[in-house]
Amino acid sequence: MPAPALILHGGAGARRSRDYSAEIVHMRQVVETMAARLTDGLSALDAVVEAVVMLEESGLYVAGRGSSPNLAGEYELDASLMDGPSRRAGAVAALQGYRSPIRAARAVMDHTPHVLLAGSGAARFAAEQNLDPIDDPDAWFTRAGQGEDNHPPGHAPQLAHGTVGCCALDDQGRLAAATSTGGVFGKLPGRVGDTPIPAAGVWADTDVAVSSTGQGEYFLRTAAAAQVSWRVRSGSPVDHAARAVIDEIGALGGDGGLIALDRHGRHADPFNSQGMKRAWLSSDGAIGVDVFGR
Ligand code: ASP
Repeated sequence: MPAPALILHGGAGARRSRDYSAEIVHMRQVVETMAARLTDGLSALDAVVEAVVMLEESGLYVAGRGSSPNLAGEYELDASLMDGPSRRAGAVAALQGYRSPIRAARAVMDHTPHVLLAGSGAARFAAEQNLDPIDDPDAWFTRAGQGEDNHPPGHAPQLAHGTVGCCALDDQGRLAAATSTGGVFGKLPGRVGDTPIPAAGVWADTDVAVSSTGQGEYFLRTAAAAQVSWRVRSGSPVDHAARAVIDEIGALGGDGGLIALDRHGRHADPFNSQGMKRAWLSSDGAIGVDVFGR
């Protein structure tokens, strides 16, 4: 069995003009916490959920607490996760009123026969599951990404974005992936991107785990996360597979990045945006954090 490994991202909407020191410190803390937990035998599935909850709750990224509102002023959040060995998946789309979309996605997987619940049905289900509600959205949300694209409110560049995600390999050789987002800035009410869609924003099987971040419309149109797996299972090394998918997105005019982790603990983190906040635990125990380097 390989030693545990993990990679997480805090979104590919990073801009060179912004200081990400708080995110760098936080991402390292999350990886250190998860490294200890995985060494203690935590499953990959629990690890990706716990890591994404920490990222959502921090308010530092455009996901969970850091999300921005849509054009109608509502916060509609998306999240998904996938378990490699079983290929079970859970997701919520356009969820309003609950603190942790990834916990809601996990509950969909664990407690329903479905993969994806959306809108008012997702919110009703979250209430039934006793998930933590948001009592006052204006007090809860930090709008972390507002400076990310240097645009005045209401004038966001088209499909400017941010997200969080995590891929993990545990000491049993199991892979899992999770992704959570507030979506793109200035989105229409009801818009759903790649994040809650297995094969686009998330994927895990027995060979590779993937979490996407970027202009979700392009990740949907390329089946980005599943395409990494198809390439790996056809014999490509994970870094070549992941890069080929980002290149295809770039050729269509999209930007973003993805993280991928294979069953040997090798990771890839290509992006074609200015930067992608990310941190990782390698199988040899080394921890790394980067935003703009490749
Ligand atoms: N992919 C997300 C979406 O389109 C945004 C992001 O990753 O930054 O909703």
